Amino acid sequence: MSERTLVFVAPWECSRLVAQLPRTPRADVVACFVESVKKGAALPWHRQKLVLVLSAMRHFADRLREAGYAVEHRRAPTYEDGIVEAALAHGATRVVATEGREQEMVDALARAEPRLAAHGIALELKEDRGFLCSRADFADWARGRKEYRMELFYRVMRRRHRILMEPDGEPTGGAWNFDADNRKPWPRGKPVPPRMTFAPDDVTRAIMARVATWRGRWGSVDGFALPVTREDAKALLERFVTERLAEFGPYEDAMVDGEPDLLHSTLSAALNVGLLHPRECIERAERAYREGRVPLASAEGFVRQLLGWREYVRGMYWLLMPGFREANALGATLPLPMWYWAPDGEAYGDATTAPCGMRCLADTVRQVRDHGRVHHIPRLMVQSNFATLLGVVPAALNRWFWAGFVDGYEWVTLPNVNGMSTWGDGGKMMSKPYVSSGAYIDRMSDYCGDCRYDVKRRTGEDACPFNFLYWDFLARHRARFEKHPRMSMMVRNLDRIDARELVQLRRQADAFRASLAYDGDAPIVAPGPGAGIAVGAAPGTPASPAGTAPSSPPAPTAAPARSGTSRARSSSASTPSTASGTPTPSSPIRRAEGRRRRS
Ligand SMILES: Cc1cc2nc3c(=O)[nH]c(=O)nc-3n(C[C@H](O)[C@H](O)[C@H](O)COP(=O)(O)OP(=O)(O)OC[C@H]3O[C@@H](n4cnc5c(N)ncnc54)[C@H](O)[C@@H]3O)c2cc1C
Ligand code: SF4
Repeated sequence: MSERTLVFVAPWECSRLVAQLPRTPRADVVACFVESVKKGAALPWHRQKLVLVLSAMRHFADRLREAGYAVEHRRAPTYEDGIVEAALAHGATRVVATEGREQEMVDALARAEPRLAAHGIALELKEDRGFLCSRADFADWARGRKEYRMELFYRVMRRRHRILMEPDGEPTGGAWNFDADNRKPWPRGKPVPPRMTFAPDDVTRAIMARVATWRGRWGSVDGFALPVTREDAKALLERFVTERLAEFGPYEDAMVDGEPDLLHSTLSAALNVGLLHPRECIERAERAYREGRVPLASAEGFVRQLLGWREYVRGMYWLLMPGFREANALGATLPLPMWYWAPDGEAYGDATTAPCGMRCLADTVRQVRDHGRVHHIPRLMVQSNFATLLGVVPAALNRWFWAGFVDGYEWVTLPNVNGMSTWGDGGKMMSKPYVSSGAYIDRMSDYCGDCRYDVKRRTGEDACPFNFLYWDFLARHRARFEKHPRMSMMVRNLDRIDARELVQLRRQADAFRASLAYDGDAPIVAPGPGAGIAVGAAPGTPASPAGTAPSSPPAPTAAPARSGTSRARSSSASTPSTASGTPTPSSPIRRAEGRRRRS
């Protein structure tokens, strides 16, 4: 029997840069695209993300057909069903696929394998072409380390790929990073350039019309403006480098009300579906620097995001899976506040909440709802910071980032959420949790001026929630952090607060928590000691590696009531109250009246 190969093109392999296809069409090779119904309904995906993935797949499939490739594009209950059905339909003797980029695809391919084998069809897995560091190389780098700091990995990558390096082996400019130059707030009155957008073509518009009717997903298809072809993605890279990169560095951390992107590249959505390769973006930025078009601090700042952070988080995902999903070293117990789905108090499923009065949180969530994205600092220092201070279970926050962002995939959200921002991994990735009071947001944004809360106050009716939650966080985790080299000073500052004020502050934090409406679908874990993770821990066996043993957080004095493992809130929690039974200071929110519905 002659050989016939089916190449499975994963939804994030939407160009020939990453798909495992031969360079030219061959009669014995079929490219196979699968739209999995199960995956499409697995989370309340942002509708614009669904449009992006479906449209990029559709365009790539069309491009391949035009180039003479045989293409199979099918909708199937699951990825494995689609692969097996297509292989049989085409009389394949072999299926070639990329090793799963994230766990669910690994599992789907593992389920496909015996079904294919039953028909004498071999499944051959190839290395993922979408990264510069292979999983094996990352594992080599990580071997024997107790902590896995990005900065050290980044230097290895700079040397290995000779990016921004001098012939004598020293980093260009004499330093590995220029972070200190890159922390400017956006100057008042400085115009923000318009967002870089791409008008949807007929193919995309047809998909938008289809996705708009799907229930149980988040956001609207309206305003979809992402690149869905290789040509448009390259144009986006070019525009970023020529129009924005020069000033990218200094304003990397700035936030402006109503602006999801500022000078950020917005390349992540295209990179993560395979329309761009990180190597070409890195090399383009270096060329712009070598040609004298952009300063080193900006070029290096951008290169670090891709050659450092993107490669590092993907490596950490595989290093810490599968236990990573449950990582919760700080013992957080809360589901996600409804404000993350309904910042304006809009109806969401059958649940309601009052509008979010915190200007920073409301605006940044609005950006995600409307565009499926917001740049890095709002993700880290507003959305994640708030959830971490509040005590939201990292898995619940991760689910939101994974579902709600156009660039969201588990391989990238999990390390960023469970590792970087919530410190759920107990310090494997970051030396300390990314938490701050409102002062950071005030310094780096224009949010606080017009907020109904006072960023300078830490107690009382108008106190900024970031402030009392921050001090409450330090008090709750005092035992864990008082000897921590990078946190001990912050913890010691607790002792400078008058004891009565500290009690008041903590009561206000408890009352605030009790007053919020929560997402009823989020996973709820029993309150109690958190679970650290061990590298390579078996599923469902969270462990606490030496030095990361979680401390039991003090029992909250007025935690929101729960009803066992049920996801519904108990009615006793519906009246916000402080520990002493006094009403919450002018709580802006009311409790969800029902649970969000999922299709
Ligand atoms: C809580 C949280 C959740 C995040 N979720 C995602 C996600 O779902 N998908 C995603 O691609 N990124 C995620 N990031 C990382 C980062 O915020 C986004 O990559 C970035 O904001 C995308 O916008 P941009 O393309 O304009 O990025 P730029 O600021 O222009 O950076 C350039 C590129 O660097 C890469 N990059 C930068 N930082 C990171 C990082 N920490 N991890 C991985 N890649 C990085 C991205 O590919 C990005 O396109 C998350 C960060 C945090 C703190
Ligand atoms: S005052 Fe607090 S809640 Fe309001 S915008 Fe500033 S940091 Fe956010």
